Amino acid sequence: MAEHNFDLVILGGGSGGYSAALRAAQLGMNVALVEKDKLGGTCLHRGCIPTKALLHAAEVADVTRESENFGVHAEFQGIDMTAVNTYRDSIVDRLYKGLSGLIKAKKVTMVEGEGRLTGPKSVTVGGDVYTGKNVVLATGSVSKSLPGLEIGGRVITSDQALQMDWIPNKVAVLGGGVIGVEFASVWRSFGSEVVIIEGLDRLVPNEDPSMSKQLEKAYKKRGIELKLGARFAGVTQSDSGVDIALESGESIQADIMLVAVGRAPNATGFGYEEQGVNMDRGWVLTNERLMTNLDGVYAVGDIVPGLQLAHRGFQQGIFVAEEIAGLKPQVVDEMGIPRVTYCEPEIGSVGLTEEQAKEKFGAESISTYEYNLAGNGKSQILGTSGVIKLIRQVNGPVVGFHMIGSRAGEQIGEAQLIVNWEAHPEDVAPLVHAHPTMNESLGEAHLALAGKPLHAHA
Ligand SMILES: Cc1cc2nc3c(=O)[nH]c(=O)nc-3n(C[C@H](O)[C@H](O)[C@H](O)COP(=O)(O)OP(=O)(O)OC[C@H]3O[C@@H](n4cnc5c(N)ncnc54)[C@H](O)[C@@H]3O)c2cc1C
Repeated sequence: MAEHNFDLVILGGGSGGYSAALRAAQLGMNVALVEKDKLGGTCLHRGCIPTKALLHAAEVADVTRESENFGVHAEFQGIDMTAVNTYRDSIVDRLYKGLSGLIKAKKVTMVEGEGRLTGPKSVTVGGDVYTGKNVVLATGSVSKSLPGLEIGGRVITSDQALQMDWIPNKVAVLGGGVIGVEFASVWRSFGSEVVIIEGLDRLVPNEDPSMSKQLEKAYKKRGIELKLGARFAGVTQSDSGVDIALESGESIQADIMLVAVGRAPNATGFGYEEQGVNMDRGWVLTNERLMTNLDGVYAVGDIVPGLQLAHRGFQQGIFVAEEIAGLKPQVVDEMGIPRVTYCEPEIGSVGLTEEQAKEKFGAESISTYEYNLAGNGKSQILGTSGVIKLIRQVNGPVVGFHMIGSRAGEQIGEAQLIVNWEAHPEDVAPLVHAHPTMNESLGEAHLALAGKPLHAHA
């Protein structure tokens, strides 16, 4: 067995792991990054990037279909899924090459293979042991299923959905959370009949209910069928399709069923438990400074309970590298992390929902305002509808921002500064927002909440 010593050994080369590697290398550490598959992880190869490429192709399809509304003659002739996949893969490949080059340039040692924590500070890969002064666990997450629901054949997860080279005539999506509504959006734009089955009584149940209501309205208008509060009972499949049973006795037939019921931490089977890492139902537990119960062993990204988002992983990776370097970085505040659901229309949110704000501050201590995008010139030009909902503490800062509409995710940058810097609407109101932009609607909402609405009635 060969022994190798490093300042930092990182297990998993996804968003959390590679950002820790890059920042640690920048800070002068000698870093080994262990990856069993491809550098970039879920986000780059099976998550954020490929899905957003599909969503962009979907937008192009929608715009082409609707081109007559804008006085442009174009004929929508269909989707060439092979060509769509080539476009998508070209984006992933380019980013993958760029990232690999960056890792090499920073002199991070890439170790290919499955790693196992074989000592509190040691990771074994094949016949080699990599020991670090510190170790970061970053093995990410995998698609979840329901008890007794087997993935295979026509019952698929997002991993298989991204491999498809054909468009189903009818697809059933089990789960109305982020991943479910994004795939539903893509397939609908590509021409499939889509039905979403959600056990709770609304889509995107983690968002403020006002966003769910707007999304449900928009999806119904797009012809996406919704089965809300519908309990899944089972599925059978044949060569030609799936037959889904609901607890209500209703059955649904489709070509395929996408299981989008969340993601589970990928943290078992790699020696964590054996080394005594504190875990809870598969999650790796850390303190707020992301250290596990073992001194010098940290965890970042989707294996740590909280929002499973790539940019959370990036920030946690940077945090841990700086923490190890003794820079005493600021703790990553879970509530300040921006969230975007990239369906059509998009949802962008940061901070508290109205319910959470009421619970935290008391109902009488908050006020809310909803600005309708009907009053926003650029939204009218694009032909999108939607709202911005703001929640503030009375005489205090904005604590929640929620927006739905085409491209709403692009507004989250300013929104997260407002919420994280605890700006009052009165601080934002005098700042000038360019006209005509969708961003202007954010300025308008703050003007209104500060008591001086411009293009709004209240
Ligand atoms: C369909 C889909 C769409 C998504 N869209 C978005 C989005 O738009 N925006 C967003 O912010 N987030 C999105 N996410 C979530 C995002 O991908 C994750 O939050 C992010 O990838 C988590 O990063 P991570 O480093 O924790 O884990 P991962 O990216 O999963 O990386 C973990 C890495 O560890 C490797 N690994 C695991 N075990 C071992 C081992 N024993 N030895 C060696 N290597 C190992 C894996 O191969 C993997 O490369 C999406 C996810 C999915 C599935």
